Amino acid sequence: MANSMGNRLGRRVWGTVRRVARNSSVAGMVRELALPPVCLFCGRAGQPGLDCCAGCQADLPRPPGSCRRCAISLPGNTLLCGQCSRNPPAYDQAVAAFDYLPPLDGLIQRFKFSRDLAAGRVLARLMAAELAWRRTPRPDLVIPVPLHARRRFRRGYNQSALLARDLCRHFAGLPWVEALARTRPTAAQSDLPAEARQGNVRRAFACRNLPPGTGHAALLDDVMTTGSTVAECARELKRSGVRRVDVWVLARA
Ligand SMILES: [Zn+2]
Ligand SMILES: [Zn+2]
Repeated sequence: MANSMGNRLGRRVWGTVRRVARNSSVAGMVRELALPPVCLFCGRAGQPGLDCCAGCQADLPRPPGSCRRCAISLPGNTLLCGQCSRNPPAYDQAVAAFDYLPPLDGLIQRFKFSRDLAAGRVLARLMAAELAWRRTPRPDLVIPVPLHARRRFRRGYNQSALLARDLCRHFAGLPWVEALARTRPTAAQSDLPAEARQGNVRRAFACRNLPPGTGHAALLDDVMTTGSTVAECARELKRSGVRRVDVWVLARA
């Protein structure tokens, strides 16, 4: 009895959470359609359908050069960083649209921690433009880095899944699938020193519904720091038969 009441209460709480999330997203979209675009960085007029002006888009922080494998900033014409030359990661190639620097870092934090879903849509479009401009190879599908169910519940959404959804809208016919699950809760990588991050996410992911025949996947995340999380996800995808795993991130720290 107590159990069934608990279940009913659980369903009601979930229903409310979902309704609020849906409404705020719909309200946001209506607002975007009704109001002229305003740049989220400088407050001047945005570009058609985009809350970012051309000047701020051009000035977003981009690395002058980066490692072909892990996308870390590198000086000059160096192709690979020392770490990737000695011990290449499990993924094939990481592409970071931007550097994790002002003013982009602030917008990412608003999207991730303050439920600013409109910021997420702007970030997805800026990223799509950057990937298209760089002629990033097109994968068979995009897979967002998963959150553990508990953290997803607390935040109300997985920012990487929203980013995948919004990003794929800009590439006709490119599907995205939540093919990975986090099988155990892990400490936030940002709370750990670099050397503890690999162990923290080890064997923390499982392939759940990978479409058969996926040969080339792009793992999508918002920010990449040491790359331990995406490397572990890539390992799991390769164990499941994916031949090539690229990593797409909004920003490289
Ligand atoms: Zn601007
Ligand atoms: Zn590297």
